Amino acid sequence: MNQAVKIKTQTAFEVRPFKVYTHRQIDKISTLQHISKDLLFEMKVVANVLPFRVNDYVIEQLIDWDNIPNDPIFQLTFPQREMLKPESFERMANLMKKDASRQDIQKLAAVLQSELNPHPAGQMDLNVPALEGETLAGMQHKYKETVLFFPSQGQVCHSYCTFCFRWAQFVGDKELQFAAKEADSLHAYLAQHQEVSDVLLTGGDPLVMKTQKLDQYLTGFLKPELEHIQTVRIGTKSLSFWPQRFVSDPDADDLLRSMEKLVSEGKHVALMAHYNHWQEMDTPIAHEAIKRIRNTGAQIRSQGPLLANINDDAAVWQRLWNDQVKLGIIPYYMFVERDTGAKRYFAVPLAKAWNIYREAMQNVSGLGRTARGPSMSSGPGKIEIQGITEIKGEKVFVLRFIQGRNPDWVQRPFFAKFDDKATWLDDLRPAFGEEKFFFTDEYEKMLRG
Ligand SMILES: *Cc1c(COP(=O)(O)O)cnc(C)c1O
Repeated sequence: MNQAVKIKTQTAFEVRPFKVYTHRQIDKISTLQHISKDLLFEMKVVANVLPFRVNDYVIEQLIDWDNIPNDPIFQLTFPQREMLKPESFERMANLMKKDASRQDIQKLAAVLQSELNPHPAGQMDLNVPALEGETLAGMQHKYKETVLFFPSQGQVCHSYCTFCFRWAQFVGDKELQFAAKEADSLHAYLAQHQEVSDVLLTGGDPLVMKTQKLDQYLTGFLKPELEHIQTVRIGTKSLSFWPQRFVSDPDADDLLRSMEKLVSEGKHVALMAHYNHWQEMDTPIAHEAIKRIRNTGAQIRSQGPLLANINDDAAVWQRLWNDQVKLGIIPYYMFVERDTGAKRYFAVPLAKAWNIYREAMQNVSGLGRTARGPSMSSGPGKIEIQGITEIKGEKVFVLRFIQGRNPDWVQRPFFAKFDDKATWLDDLRPAFGEEKFFFTDEYEKMLRG
């Protein structure tokens, strides 16, 4: 039986043209006219190295311009001087002051970018699947049940996050772009892998695609040979940066109908919404978007990293998770900022991250305590800081795999020496005088292939 579509056409929100600014258009952003010349220059220096893209919904409705430069959404989208090493900043600044050519600036930018660990966690080499001997660019299959797919038309976002671990894809490093041309190879691969239950469309942001394009990927999951695909996840920042996508864009209703169709055919549809701060969910159109998505029967789960200068405060997470529960969003992951890009600006020590997580957890109801973390998406897997404790006189981190490159590693507790400065797995050493972690040998073997 075909149920009537529950989505009502929304008229309260006008159709808004999507206007976006990239690094060469910083001077055209009118709200920046009031910012000091020095600050503006600093932003341009950094924007030559790290990708910059912001749209005017973010500028006009999410950023509080009375709170510059501290406003979290300003920090989330606008480049800041300390995102680069002082030497790197000076080199780029000097070149710009000399009115160097576009070419010279790009040459230096490429050098500085290559110093920022653009390939974290082995994602270029280790996780790429193959079909009949051919590697499938545009896909990653790291954890048994879930295949990631990067549709080529979804490799940008409505705005860029300054911390984004996929930043290298946005600065024209073609080698870094995993992008798949069409859905056929995805569907063929999935048909051969009965162990896969989840597909995650990711990017960039797949929801920059027009519904008609996206639909080519989505409807394929309804083929009988893909019955084992239970869940279709869509990773997106659009609920924050462009809620119009679900409300007033010309094809917003079509998108919701596609999602509703998957749900009615028995798939679990999950929007994996990237949120860093409650301020992103605080506009009427954001609320409307959430309501309309939930009306399709799709779930919204939230994930995002803990970041210095944006959300390294338990009160922010407490409100984020509380507001999400109120709006019907399920908190899913709190991540540790990855070791790439502007990590020097955003890194939070693991010990501090755990304290923030714990304090926020203690102050939300059980329904807000569904977010796991703080979790490091590292080469061997997603590793959660479970706690800090003392065992026989030694202060240690208690860790566990939430996801492992080998499923057998999942949920096994293990221990690292406490280190108040450690910000990533690479900084950690095994506790109790041991030489290696329990997974080290096996992981190194995987690296050697
Ligand atoms: C996080 C992640 C997934 C999904 O893991 P879940 O625990 O199922 O959310 C899949 N693949 C990769 C590469 C990931 O980083």
